[in-house]
Amino acid sequence: MIEIVSCVVAVCDTCRSYFDEDGEGVQHFATVAGARAHLAEDGPEPKGDGLDYLRDTTTPGWQQLADGRLRCWRCETNRLCTEHGHDWTPWQACWCQGRCTIQLRSCQRCGNRQDRYDPATTTEGGERA
Ligand SMILES: [Zn+2]
Ligand SMILES: [Zn+2]
Ligand SMILES: [Zn+2]
Repeated sequence: MIEIVSCVVAVCDTCRSYFDEDGEGVQHFATVAGARAHLAEDGPEPKGDGLDYLRDTTTPGWQQLADGRLRCWRCETNRLCTEHGHDWTPWQACWCQGRCTIQLRSCQRCGNRQDRYDPATTTEGGERA
């Protein structure tokens, strides 16, 4: 026989991506409540003033906003970095190991990269010697 079943998927209101489509595959839930319960486990609630959450550089999970909208981990990551700044690693020497004077750092939250000339090899004002 043919049976029609309906199921629930969670979609990011910002970028329209489906829950876990970039992970183990789009997850289907039996009920809206089941979907919300699963998302609640995925996305840690910001605690207290929210700063603990900010300092936590692990990937944020999906967020359920007060008005019921959803925000995927990627959009949440972008929001955190946009509103609170990137969470940079210390400057590190370029991977070429001294053949240039470039230093690199990356955001531990979103993976954004920056580079600069090693200030030890530049004159005041940041200009290259
Ligand atoms: Zn999104
Ligand atoms: Zn960032
Ligand atoms: Zn280099």
